[in-house]
Amino acid sequence: MQPVTFNNTVLRDGHQSLAATRMSTAQMLPAAPILDEMGFSGLETWGGATIDACLRYLGENPFERLRQLKQAAPRTPQIMLLRGQNIVQYTSFPDDVVEAFVRANAAAGQDVFRIFDALNDTRNLTTAIKTVLACGKHARGEICYTTSPVHTIEAFVAMGVELEKMGCHSIGIKDMSGIIAPRVAFDMVTQLKRRVGLPITLHTHDTAGLGAASYLAAIDAGVDAVETSISPFANGTGQPDTVRMLALLHGHPRCPQFDPAKLQELRVYFEDVYKQLGKFTSPANERVDSDILIFQVPGGMLSNFRNQLAEQGMADKFDDVVREIPVVREALGWIPLVTPTSQIVGTQAMMNVKFGRWKMICQPAQDIALGKYGKAPGPINPEVLRQVVKQSGQQVVTERPANLLAPAMAGLRQQCAAKGLPGDDETVVLFAMFPQQVEALAKGTAAAPAAPVAAPAAAPAATARAAAAAAAPAPAGSGRHMVLNINGGHYEVTVEKMD
Ligand code: MN
Repeated sequence: MQPVTFNNTVLRDGHQSLAATRMSTAQMLPAAPILDEMGFSGLETWGGATIDACLRYLGENPFERLRQLKQAAPRTPQIMLLRGQNIVQYTSFPDDVVEAFVRANAAAGQDVFRIFDALNDTRNLTTAIKTVLACGKHARGEICYTTSPVHTIEAFVAMGVELEKMGCHSIGIKDMSGIIAPRVAFDMVTQLKRRVGLPITLHTHDTAGLGAASYLAAIDAGVDAVETSISPFANGTGQPDTVRMLALLHGHPRCPQFDPAKLQELRVYFEDVYKQLGKFTSPANERVDSDILIFQVPGGMLSNFRNQLAEQGMADKFDDVVREIPVVREALGWIPLVTPTSQIVGTQAMMNVKFGRWKMICQPAQDIALGKYGKAPGPINPEVLRQVVKQSGQQVVTERPANLLAPAMAGLRQQCAAKGLPGDDETVVLFAMFPQQVEALAKGTAAAPAAPVAAPAAAPAATARAAAAAAAPAPAGSGRHMVLNINGGHYEVTVEKMD
């Protein structure tokens, strides 16, 4: 029996989930060589909210981070999380931008691409998967796990079969909210193993206290890899920590081997980094919170809702908004709650409570109803759809949404040139998603970390630059502008009035 392998997430999901994605490259580099020699089957270091956080809050070039981490940890495959046609943003991009992004990322050293679509619409994964394969890199097709009347194990397994046909090298079960029950994990892995001839990875969070138990069940069912982190960037809204997972597997025939002294060294190191990032950590993220099982929304989203609502003068409406989330989700075809749909559903739930149910529909929720994000897993509520079609004057999109988007790289390159920015693919693909931040970075006016961060011993350059730059004002919530928090990552949403 093969030992299960562990991918380590401390350099991406670990700090995204527990410290608002604020770990800097300087804080990562001293740990990278140790992580590299441990025997992890992968290190998740890039993608998700880290690109945004690098540019928006840390004044860092994300591609430079990747190159530095590759140099510091050359042996272990490095993993990124890619939102399919959304790349690492909230809206769809044309195929040529997705292709250029993947190629630039592969050239900078990325090894494994975890590719997901918030609606589990595989048409939104086609371009990314094809390009990863063309670059000779590893495509891991992700199945976003959620629960609803239309989400069955058979449907998830059918998606796994499709991902295999699309050429993926492996399959990931992406339980972004930490709601997969151990028995469900066991059944899903068993079925996938029966029907799909690819390695399977389970990715979950310990938000509701299920993560480690679900890993154990998946391991019993033959899962090939699970994803763990290093305390204190672990447990709670993050991944179960490596030491705890090893203890749970003690005596298990599939228990992998890790050097306990090195794990302890990493723990001590990251305790210090966690303290440095204290401004971005929260006890609410560290504890087990089974509310998520009742409300079916990510824990980070719940805790941040309280702040959001207070800013909107709706502090007393928390229960109403939380109860509205499943109503919105059902009306929008039971979409999984994962970036960007979690932000959109959350915003619409607030608007339903504030203005009356479906009196105002935010632009992204309209777009979901119209099929612009892809095909929802279930039917869109016909009443809501009628209203959206009437008010927007637009028709429902049934083809692959990116078919409607014209190539954009040439135009983006011209825009970069007009701003005096370099025209290389790295700059242009980042500019496509984060134009202001890329310009600020190039001109040396980028944001520094919002809190003073003591530099670890081996971290001179970036911290010095950061200290020299002015601190960015924290984005504030207003009537039209909201900042949502999912598993520690901050996302800004602009709410537009329908007229
Ligand atoms: Mn995750």
